[in-house]
Amino acid sequence: MIKNISISLLPSQAANADDLKKAIADECAVGANRISGFEIQKKSIDARARQPKVLIAAQVFIDEAIIPKPAFDPDLQNVASAPPVVIVGAGPAGLFAALRLIVLGIKPIVIERGKDVRSRRRDLAALNKEGVVNPESNYCFGEGGAGTYSDGKLYTRSTKRGDVGKILQLFHHFGADENILFQAHPHIGTNKLPHIITAIREQIIACGGEVLFNTKLKDLLLDGDTVKGIETSEGIKIQCTAVILATGHSARDIFTLLHHKKILVECKPFALGVRIEHPQILIDQAQYHCTSRDIFLPPASYSLVAQEYGRGVFSFCMCPGGIIAPAATAPGELVVNGWSPSKRNNAFANSGTVVAVDEKDFAAYKFYGPLAAMHYQQMVEQKSFAAGGGKLMAPAQRLVDFTNNKISGTLPECSYIPGLNSVSLKEVLPAEVSIALQSAMVDFGKKMKGYYTNEAVMVATESRTSSPVRIPRDKDTLQHIQIKGLFPCAEGAGYAGGIISAAIDGERCADAAVAVLKKKS
Ligand SMILES: Cc1cc2nc3c(=O)[nH]c(=O)nc-3n(C[C@H](O)[C@H](O)[C@H](O)COP(=O)(O)OP(=O)(O)OC[C@H]3O[C@@H](n4cnc5c(N)ncnc54)[C@H](O)[C@@H]3O)c2cc1C
Repeated sequence: MIKNISISLLPSQAANADDLKKAIADECAVGANRISGFEIQKKSIDARARQPKVLIAAQVFIDEAIIPKPAFDPDLQNVASAPPVVIVGAGPAGLFAALRLIVLGIKPIVIERGKDVRSRRRDLAALNKEGVVNPESNYCFGEGGAGTYSDGKLYTRSTKRGDVGKILQLFHHFGADENILFQAHPHIGTNKLPHIITAIREQIIACGGEVLFNTKLKDLLLDGDTVKGIETSEGIKIQCTAVILATGHSARDIFTLLHHKKILVECKPFALGVRIEHPQILIDQAQYHCTSRDIFLPPASYSLVAQEYGRGVFSFCMCPGGIIAPAATAPGELVVNGWSPSKRNNAFANSGTVVAVDEKDFAAYKFYGPLAAMHYQQMVEQKSFAAGGGKLMAPAQRLVDFTNNKISGTLPECSYIPGLNSVSLKEVLPAEVSIALQSAMVDFGKKMKGYYTNEAVMVATESRTSSPVRIPRDKDTLQHIQIKGLFPCAEGAGYAGGIISAAIDGERCADAAVAVLKKKS
């Protein structure tokens, strides 16, 4: 007999194989000796009550052999001599587009401005230790894009657009732990992502695809309104009839190039604010109602939202046990983001906490037109860099001091390696952002005990939350609304936010590009 069950266990029971099997047998009302096997389908934490519980959904095999799931087959083939599609950008979107093209029998040629994962690591060390930004190789640019040294949280709300399960299977196939397949909030961790990204690249090349590093798109070659190829900064010209443009939300040169070529881009509202870091223990105490966290529970996280003066304020990309990282892509700008190792065992918890901004706000600074949001974003990042005092030191303020308009006399210990400079963040952030944030801090403190504390520090600026432009595309063919053969893809084009949704959009653009190639042949 096969039975589907849901059980709720103490964290220690869920972590112990014998206890787990006994609980499953009890739920099925049979002796443990009759359980021949089970497969966990979903695992989550329910911390609403005083005693947090682990919720497990499983398929149980009673008195009959477990039916193993068929091994996942990525269904790849050799495409060395197939017609090419050029993919610009080797982030999650570009890499998953490449894998999908290979499945469909088309050769991907991926061009990437940055370096391979390993060489990129040295540039990240220089960012953190010397405060030096390499504009071609940083937390956003290079093999795997912003995804490689990201936190690697793999959940998304965009389940309608594609097969999230398949993307998770592919991540598992290329080396991610099996638990990502059933955790309610799967997480890979920054230490593990580089190996997975390398494995994907090796597979693309083994199938006859090409991945060219240190190769930057300089121009799109057009014949009227139709793509005929690309030209790189290194003088390479590649002829092709389809280009998937997956350059991410930080490729300001690409947004500018399109605008100068009179290829339509549209200004897009986004959100901007700070990273807030608390000692992890405060978040554990608040979320798990305890003095110290049960060792069988993961470091706790939170998700907070508020409406302040008609604006959305929200936490996002919460990194329990994490590190705040310098994520700028050009010298003279300061951007922060967050990541955590797979064990999430750092002493701090950080999250982006941002305020929605739109055209009215950009216009108040005299930024108009398609690139207005980008210029507003850049303005804040430059101001933040200057306020930090150089070398990527970040302007910062204790949380309660910020709401009380008081410069912090001292700053708490913080995971941000380049260091902090105590300032009034009100002077750094646009007024509309700081006013909404001040109000939200008080509201968040009411929602979550322990949140509103001067042990927390606010670090500016969290500004690359999503793309400042949308590159409009036809909703059916996914081609740019003016340019045939150009497929604006994923986060940079405004169609994704996060690793999974970017990967899904990469796959969709690959499907769309192949449909166009087939029509032509
Ligand atoms: C520190 C950090 C932590 C994050 N944590 C998470 C997380 O936990 N979960 C999550 O879902 N998301 C997270 N993100 C966001 C996530 O990484 C992005 O949403 C995702 O990578 C977007 O994918 P993409 O392929 O659209 O673009 P990107 O990953 O930005 O990739 C774009 C690529 O294009 C390349 N490129 C740009 N211009 C050119 C050009 N002219 N020529 C050639 N190549 C070019 C870039 O170098 C880059 O490699 C994090 C990001 C950062 C920086």
